[in-house]
Amino acid sequence: MSDSMRSQAIVAPAAGDWIRLGHEEGIGDVVAEVLPRRTAIVRRDPAEDVVEQVLVTNVDVVGVVAAVDRPRNVARLERFLVLAADSGAEPVIVLTKVDLGLDDQWRELGALVPDVPVLHTSAVTGIGIDDVAALIAEDRTLVLLGESGSGKSSLVNTLVGEDVQATKEVRAGDAKGRHTTTARELVVIPGGGVLIDTPGIRGVGLWDAEPALERVFADIAQLGEQCRFSDCSHRVEPGCAVRQAVDAGHLDGWRLDRYLRLRAELDEQAEQREQRRRKARGRRRR
Ligand code: GDP
Ligand code: ZN
Repeated sequence: MSDSMRSQAIVAPAAGDWIRLGHEEGIGDVVAEVLPRRTAIVRRDPAEDVVEQVLVTNVDVVGVVAAVDRPRNVARLERFLVLAADSGAEPVIVLTKVDLGLDDQWRELGALVPDVPVLHTSAVTGIGIDDVAALIAEDRTLVLLGESGSGKSSLVNTLVGEDVQATKEVRAGDAKGRHTTTARELVVIPGGGVLIDTPGIRGVGLWDAEPALERVFADIAQLGEQCRFSDCSHRVEPGCAVRQAVDAGHLDGWRLDRYLRLRAELDEQAEQREQRRRKARGRRRR
């Protein structure tokens, strides 16, 4: 195996990667190297529970897309925000189809997601499209995550100002680097910036994202520092500052509930990974 093949085996390119091309006798162009990633959105592989899957890399902003003609699902949005926070990119919530009107639930969303901007957009009236364009000013890259039908393609088309189809091969920079796309569509916006549309994603499994969870739920993490036990689960322990805050009406009990669910998911996953490692070690010893 040549060196170029070996490095390819270590990191498989994902959408958004910059690669160095190499040449293999009898094969042609090959990926010689995946260049270091600035950011990476990583989820749990939907097909294989104990493996990670890199969705897209090198994005600056993650737009979590939700259409206001559907019921609000805060748990789902928070899950995507943790995914975004874990990637190292900046999260923003993009509400679509606001021409259809917002009910109170959607209007009050901002209060539930502290520190995350919520953009109101419509591909029909053009409202908020400038705000989305501003996210990718100065040649930044924005990826849109959301379920199918949430209006992602319409948003992309409105930004580009015409209907675009899959831009299969986008060259940027010099000949050494090339953005790679798979099923994700990468579109260069005429006014500057790059937009990556993903196929509809209904839900994502988090992967190794504890620090990101603590950042998205910073209010709870902060309260947790005052709990009597440093490893307090905020469920049953005496002297739990988090539960006290709920009882006193300072913290929404539903928010705590959603946080605990995500934490349980991550804990369980870490446990599975540890079990696997132990098994692998056992096999090697025998
Ligand atoms: P995608 O699957 O996320 O790419 O969603 P599409 O862009 O294909 O949109 C799904 C449906 O929502 C289509 O029927 C669109 O016409 C409709 N839609 C998209 N954007 C808007 C909008 O801003 N306002 C309204 N009223 N409908 C929209
Ligand atoms: Zn506690």
